[in-house]
Amino acid sequence: MARLALLLLSLSTLICQAADRPPNVVIIFADDLGYGDIGCFGNKDIRTPNIDRIAAEGIKFTDFYVAQAVCSASRTALLTGCYPNRVGILGALGPASKNGIHERETTIAEMLKAKGYATAIFGKWHLGHHPQFLPTKHGFDEYFGLPYSNDMWPQHPTAKFPALPLISGNKTIEENPDQTKLTSWYTERGVKFIEANQDKPFFLYMPHSMPHVPLFVSDQHKGKSKAGLFGDVIEELDWSVGKILATLKKHDLEKNTLVIFTSDNGPWLSYGNHAGTAGPLREGKGTSFDGGVRVPFVARLPGMFPAGSVCKTPAMTIDLLPTIANLAGARLPELRIDGKDIGPLLRNEPNAKSPQEAYFFYWGQELQAVRAGKWKLHFPHEFRTLQEAGRDGKPGPYVNSRIQVSLFNLEKDAKESQNLTDAYPDELKRIRVLADRIRTDLGDLATKREGKGVRAAGLVQIAK
Ligand code: MG
Repeated sequence: MARLALLLLSLSTLICQAADRPPNVVIIFADDLGYGDIGCFGNKDIRTPNIDRIAAEGIKFTDFYVAQAVCSASRTALLTGCYPNRVGILGALGPASKNGIHERETTIAEMLKAKGYATAIFGKWHLGHHPQFLPTKHGFDEYFGLPYSNDMWPQHPTAKFPALPLISGNKTIEENPDQTKLTSWYTERGVKFIEANQDKPFFLYMPHSMPHVPLFVSDQHKGKSKAGLFGDVIEELDWSVGKILATLKKHDLEKNTLVIFTSDNGPWLSYGNHAGTAGPLREGKGTSFDGGVRVPFVARLPGMFPAGSVCKTPAMTIDLLPTIANLAGARLPELRIDGKDIGPLLRNEPNAKSPQEAYFFYWGQELQAVRAGKWKLHFPHEFRTLQEAGRDGKPGPYVNSRIQVSLFNLEKDAKESQNLTDAYPDELKRIRVLADRIRTDLGDLATKREGKGVRAAGLVQIAK
């Protein structure tokens, strides 16, 4: 009798634990994949049935943003919930960089690890390659991948770089790896990690190296799409997403796993047929126009996010950390963050509103644009625009252009082409007030303002 009671007690504890178990989190982050590069965002030539399925079984955001349209800055915002200039990581770090993410910052991985999650990253890190900045020092139990972009290697078409390391844990295991294998290597490890950790909560972060140039695809996917090598590369990424989804299903983890697919910035247009497309949006990577900063975003959490939902309210990568914190019951970072919980939007709750008054687009430390509701205000700034597209892995030239103060209604003018500053003086005034507020906090190079809330990145001391 006593044994039966004990058995029942442990059984009920198990059931309670299962019910209390916070959701697993999988973030799949493509590199330089544009707004128009996948099926559920209008691409007709590239087949992405698995990514599209996340949207069909969950939610698609039409107006989802990254904070800055370049690799390291964008990844910083995703992982820390902060504007990248708040934590001091700008641009794209490379083999000569001495900085990286500061130890006082809290990543999604550290936040979830404190809650008992197993954590792993398979892919491109790009938040500092020196030992103290590597993923294993910032909350990840496992790491396999490249420390920065896959074009930072000796075969670069126009610049000189040393050998490109492939890192496992904290050790370089190979130099200039066979890049046709990257997507499948990351995928195999992602699948194994899920299988090994199926009995406890896990956070799997898969920042793919593709489709950042140079493009590489495995033999299995070569020549299969209607959109050339670029299309093949995207279809292989979709295959990878399919493998992850199938593994979740096989181990009955689908219902308790949040899966997100998005991109770090828009297409690198100078690479022509080796770049993607921003679809209906203006410009691409490296600019604060929507072609640079607006990316496809799909997310699934069965039972929580109603299937087939579409959200047109703006949101940003900075919001994912606090949203995940809430879902997982994890503690927010001690230091101030910029993101806010977008759970009500993801759950498609009636009358759900954006928790943010506006989103701010800095390029480096210069405030270039603000998105507030349907409006986007650009301050005067220079930007690069394509002079001539490159081909087959060789970049074409950009020229500098300049935009004056411009107010666009993105609901009617996704291309940011009709300046409405004269027609809507009240909106202009209102958004200027919001911009001034962020300048006090984060500064602005263009107006020579210093921000009170800016923190520095970590810096290595290199012996001379
Ligand atoms: Mg990128």
